[in-house]
Amino acid sequence: MGSIGCDNTGVGIVDETAFALPPGMGVTRSELGRARRPTVAVDVDEVLAFFVPALCRFHNQQYRTRLTPSDFHSYRFSQVWGGTDVEAVERVHEFFRTPAFEELQPVPGANETLRARRDRFRFVVVTSRQTLIEQPTRRWLSRHFDGIFEDVYFGNQWVRGQGVPTMMGSSAAVGRRSKADMCHEAGAMLLVDDMPAYVDECARAGMRGILFDYQQGYGWSKAPLTMPHRVTVAHDWTQVGRVLDALVPPLDDEGTRC
Ligand SMILES: [Mg+2]
Repeated sequence: MGSIGCDNTGVGIVDETAFALPPGMGVTRSELGRARRPTVAVDVDEVLAFFVPALCRFHNQQYRTRLTPSDFHSYRFSQVWGGTDVEAVERVHEFFRTPAFEELQPVPGANETLRARRDRFRFVVVTSRQTLIEQPTRRWLSRHFDGIFEDVYFGNQWVRGQGVPTMMGSSAAVGRRSKADMCHEAGAMLLVDDMPAYVDECARAGMRGILFDYQQGYGWSKAPLTMPHRVTVAHDWTQVGRVLDALVPPLDDEGTRC
């Protein structure tokens, strides 16, 4: 086992070569005993699929902007390209209606990392995406992650006419579910997500979190956490794999934990 460093928010960082879990993240024997395969919830956008780069290309074409993904310091897109939240939601829904939305690139390493650990974990998708795009979302997951996820939960946030998501300060609206609620329903012990507010919310509810900041390039993933002892940061899927292996080590040839 190696060590974990700390960035200036105090969040545990997975070391490049070795890894030890933050003290609050370990799985207890009784937890393992209850769940033959612990459930891990995985977000879609920016964790499995590169949504922002494709949205950025669409926006530049449609609205004659010259944005790059590094301009997205916030996932509240009105704060990136201006205008109101209502207008931003309309633009994102315009993007949903283009072929590019179904052609999002998968994040490298996600498939291999998850597929290799299906015997030790039950993987489910927990996304804030709207039920309106449930079918294209399921099609995309089937195309790129066939046979990996055993269930898919939709939070139905960012719905047209309903304002900003619950975790950004609005009250809960009918049909919307928070990540923590969905993770609780799924029986998840861990959420992998690129939004600090979501992993924080799950950590406060007693779960663990992996904050996914791919190659440290996600401007919106830098917010400080209130529950850093139950959350660790990963910069790619190899690092996520190391966290999963530290939580539930693989079995050796004789069937005991390595
Ligand atoms: Mg996401």
